[in-house]
Amino acid sequence: MKKIVVANWKMNPEKLEQARILVLSLEHRVNQLDKVEVVVCAPYIYLPPLSHYCSLTKLGAQNVNWLAKGSLTGEISAVQLKSFRVSYVILGHSERRLYLGETDSMVNAKIITALKYHLTPIVCLGASDRAKKTEMKKLLTKQFRAVTAGLSQAQLQKIIFVYEPVWAISTMKNSTPADSEHARDMVVHIQKLLANKIGVGKSKNMAILYGGTVNRSNVAEFAKHPEIGGALVGAASLDSENFWEVIKEFNRESIHKL
Ligand code: PEP
Repeated sequence: MKKIVVANWKMNPEKLEQARILVLSLEHRVNQLDKVEVVVCAPYIYLPPLSHYCSLTKLGAQNVNWLAKGSLTGEISAVQLKSFRVSYVILGHSERRLYLGETDSMVNAKIITALKYHLTPIVCLGASDRAKKTEMKKLLTKQFRAVTAGLSQAQLQKIIFVYEPVWAISTMKNSTPADSEHARDMVVHIQKLLANKIGVGKSKNMAILYGGTVNRSNVAEFAKHPEIGGALVGAASLDSENFWEVIKEFNRESIHKL
C-alpha cells in the first residue's frame, strides 16, 4: 500500500505563477518516489491551469458540492472537477466546519456525490478541544459514524481518512502538533472503526493519515509509525523544499518497513 502525502494549499498562493512553480518543482521530482502518492489540493481557480502540468502529481480540490448539477450560486460540482482531471477532494476540513457551518450530514452527502463521480474523498476527522484520550475516541467515533452513514463497504474502502485535531493545525491560536504516539493511537482507532464495517484485512489496506503542523522538522516522528499512512500538510506544503522533505521521509520509512 502506498503512503499518501496531501498538500492543502487553502487560499494560497496569491499568484497562479507561484502555484505553477510549486507544482513543477514536485512534478520534476516525484518520479524518484516508489512508495508515496503526492496529491496537491489547490484552490478551484488554479485547478484548470495546473491540470496541464500535473502528470505524476495528482490534483485535488478542497471542497465539492453535494449536488451534481443545478442552481447553487458559487458552488462547484464533482462533474466539473472531473473534467479538469481532478481526482481527489478534501471534505470535512475543520476550517469549513468552524467558519462556514459545514455539518457532518453535509460532509456525508458530499462524500456520496464525490464517490459517485469517482473523486476520492480525503475526509478529515478530529476534535476541536484537547480532551482525555477516551473522550477523543468517543468524539471520533461519533464523527466517523455520522459522516459515513449509509455508505456501503465498497464505498468506505475508497475513502482516505485523516486524523486532524483542530488544535494541531498550525494556523490555530496556541496550536501545537499532536505528539506522534497520540496521532498513532487515533489513527489506529479510526482503523478499528473501519475494521468493524469492512473487516480487519481490508481496513489494513487503507491509508489513514495524520494532519496538523507536519513539516520537515517533525515529519520523522510521524513517519516512523507504520500505522500512519501519510500526512495532510498545510503551511509546509507552500514551501517546495519543506514539502519535499516531508514526502521523502514517508517514502524512506515505507521502504524500510517492507
Ligand atoms: C490543514 O489545515 O489541513 C493543515 C494540515 O495545516 P497545517 O499543516 O498548516 O497545520
